[in-house]
Amino acid sequence: MSDPHGQNPVFIPGPTNIPDALRAAMNVQTVDHRAPDFKDVLLPIFEDLKKVFKTSQGTVVTFPASGTGGWEAAVTNTLSPGDTVLVGRYGMFSHRWIDLCERHKLNVQVIDCEWGTGAPVEQFAEALAADTEHAIKAVLVTHNETATGVRSDIGAVRGAINGASHPAMLMVDCVSSLASMDFRMDEWGVDVAVSGSQKGFMLMTGMAILCISPKALAAMDTAQCPRCFFDFREMLKANATGSYPYTPALQIIKGLHASLGLLLGEGLENVYTRHHRIATGVRAAVSAWGLNLCAKTPDLYSDTVSAIYVPEGFDSNILTEHAFNAYGVSFGIGLGEMNGKAFRIGHLGSITDVMALSGIATIEMAMKDLDYPIELGQGVAAAQEHYRRTIKQTEHKAA
Ligand SMILES: *Cc1c(COP(=O)(O)O)cnc(C)c1O
Repeated sequence: MSDPHGQNPVFIPGPTNIPDALRAAMNVQTVDHRAPDFKDVLLPIFEDLKKVFKTSQGTVVTFPASGTGGWEAAVTNTLSPGDTVLVGRYGMFSHRWIDLCERHKLNVQVIDCEWGTGAPVEQFAEALAADTEHAIKAVLVTHNETATGVRSDIGAVRGAINGASHPAMLMVDCVSSLASMDFRMDEWGVDVAVSGSQKGFMLMTGMAILCISPKALAAMDTAQCPRCFFDFREMLKANATGSYPYTPALQIIKGLHASLGLLLGEGLENVYTRHHRIATGVRAAVSAWGLNLCAKTPDLYSDTVSAIYVPEGFDSNILTEHAFNAYGVSFGIGLGEMNGKAFRIGHLGSITDVMALSGIATIEMAMKDLDYPIELGQGVAAAQEHYRRTIKQTEHKAA
């Protein structure tokens, strides 16, 4: 066995590595979620989550579910069958959200974009301007497309909606960006933001985390999509008294409390700076190898995941399998149309420069083993140089 003690980090873009402090926080005995003190556990989490969403007006809602459940909650609570939603498809996750909308009988107006690009702001603007009847009820955007390592400009999408004086809601999937990259619910006019516990929050999978604007809350009263488990109304009614309409995921709630302590203790801006610095080091390695990112231009580069094309004639699945079998380290495979053509390095959550260097060194060995046209040390040295040069910038405020 190449990793007999299970200490190697994963370099998949979620679920992410769980810090020991958070694993310990989740290792708790059952307590009664109907006991009088449960609200003392639950309610502070909502307040801290609002800081992470950067909202004062929004309402936070959590469900025992993965991120996909969060999508379903967002759509079914605010829309009715037959409603039109406008969506760009530029990767596996935006594609899957579209599929979910179609299965809920929404009329999905899809703008197909080349993978490696982001939310098509100009085409959104055109579609919204053409929609003089205001049939479009919502614009759906994946903030960070985890399949391609592309970050979209949510503020610009809001600008396109406002520029067309269009009343459509703005729904954003921030599952692989929230708590790792800057997110501004209020400033960007986001109506529903969808995230989850297992990426930036560094926890086990199992909690969908949403934030809802007053406008989206109002839409809940007229939305006709069938819903039960994900009904905001029952959840909000219970949350108001610090309880849950059904059994909450207690251990994740405990973990989330601890996670928010780590994130807010480090300072959100420091968290973003750390992710940017580490991502830039990974990108320096990619460039030193002479490989290309899937993301087309630097303004689209994600600070949480890099999708990297393998050279012509190589199979990225063989590379990720070899890295796992030989060295006991997982990297993200290429998803959808990138399968076999690209691998992904996840660099989000509980990640340091030291951890990133181990991942870069490992995939470099794996590439060398498979006769990729690279030299050992190329990527590592480029990343080392970046990390050495930038160490001072990320000293924590508290230090
Ligand atoms: C991980 C992820 C999701 C959620 O996926 P689940 O497996 O359901 O948690 C949704 N969107 C994006 C962009 C993601 O990275």
